[in-house]
Amino acid sequence: MIKPLIMNVATLIILNISGFNLLAADLPNASADRMEARILALSEFGKNADGGVDRTAYSDADIAGRSYMIDLMKTAGLDVSIDYAGNIIGKRAGKNSALAPIMFGSHIDSVPGGGNYDGDVGVIGALEAVELLNSTGITTEHPLEMIIFTDEESGTVGSKALAGTLTPEAMNDISSSGFKRNEGVDRIGGDHTKLKEANRTTPIHAFVELHIEQGGFLEEKKLNIGIVEGIVGIRWWTLKVEGVANHGGTTPMPGRKDALVAASKLVIAINERATNMEGRQVATVGKIQAFPGAPNVIPGKVEFSLEIRDLDADKIQHVYEVVQQEAKAVEKATGVKITFETSNVDIHPAPTHMTLRSLIEQSTNDLGLTYQYMPSGAGHDAQEMAAITPTGMIFVPSRGGISHSPKEYTSPQDMANGADVLLRTLLKLDESKFTRE
Ligand SMILES: [Zn+2]
Repeated sequence: MIKPLIMNVATLIILNISGFNLLAADLPNASADRMEARILALSEFGKNADGGVDRTAYSDADIAGRSYMIDLMKTAGLDVSIDYAGNIIGKRAGKNSALAPIMFGSHIDSVPGGGNYDGDVGVIGALEAVELLNSTGITTEHPLEMIIFTDEESGTVGSKALAGTLTPEAMNDISSSGFKRNEGVDRIGGDHTKLKEANRTTPIHAFVELHIEQGGFLEEKKLNIGIVEGIVGIRWWTLKVEGVANHGGTTPMPGRKDALVAASKLVIAINERATNMEGRQVATVGKIQAFPGAPNVIPGKVEFSLEIRDLDADKIQHVYEVVQQEAKAVEKATGVKITFETSNVDIHPAPTHMTLRSLIEQSTNDLGLTYQYMPSGAGHDAQEMAAITPTGMIFVPSRGGISHSPKEYTSPQDMANGADVLLRTLLKLDESKFTRE
């Protein structure tokens, strides 16, 4: 037992005299086996017949999974508490308690019929970073806070509570576990009557989230790490196309004002314009309904959805304007009338912080891993945290790009790579004195 102690002292000396470049080389690497074993153990809570989990927020399975994690966090020496929103927070003291804490973590709740990696990799990876700090005897300057957010999947409840953006209406909704969110928060150790007090008004130095990609980009390009540039904004509209309903047998083809034919032309135009435009915008028509909806009646009215996503709000607006131009062209060509109704889905893009991106990039380089900058097309707690603190996000590959499914998979080595990048990023953040933008 004496030998590891000497190594710890040596590491500390290197830390003190040589700064991080030398230290980075000396840091131990995450244990892929330990991470895999913990992922498998966590997947027992809410396990379903397909090999995935039904661990929706506030369910008994969620409570059991949280308890498993709390035990691990306590064993790793963290000072664990649950805030009013039910977020699990594990504190590790820094040398200077006056400094703002560095926060990192993710979630363990799943969608119904979910997989074993979405959120879980970020939480197990955060714990791995803590264990590696313990094994090297490093105490950071800043206090550290590992966090497991409440109910990410149905509306990023825990991170919104921290950011102070939770609405009472959202808390009255029934969650997929069958409990009202307010009731659910109380079930997991929070207190819905004091939710407002979960709002973090004291500064957080930075927040970092490790997460699986949930897309196939990294795997396809054979890259180890994705440096997330931000979480895309999302806007929805309902488009109404009005033509003239008439007898499908007696109305000749010329002169028909078929709303579904007009809508089809516009759907194709939306896809083509979004595809051929430069950039990574996506536009989707995912829902369509024709009225009156009978085989022998020319559709007089069609309603369909339009969703546009991009990292840049101006780009979303631009794509929307292009779609409006296309709609005018279809109106002119077919004689129908097309109107746009805005929906309440209007999520602003949440870019990550430039400094965080650069620290993640340096950490990835220190480890000799390959990477690329990329947007996140899915929502995450990081997007809420970005409103209150400099935020960064690290992606690791998802096999086949599959997510929200029991088929979700990330290899043990990819998980370990993510934890290694996370740990190094935390240590670089500890040294950085960047100012908030
Ligand atoms: Zn997630």
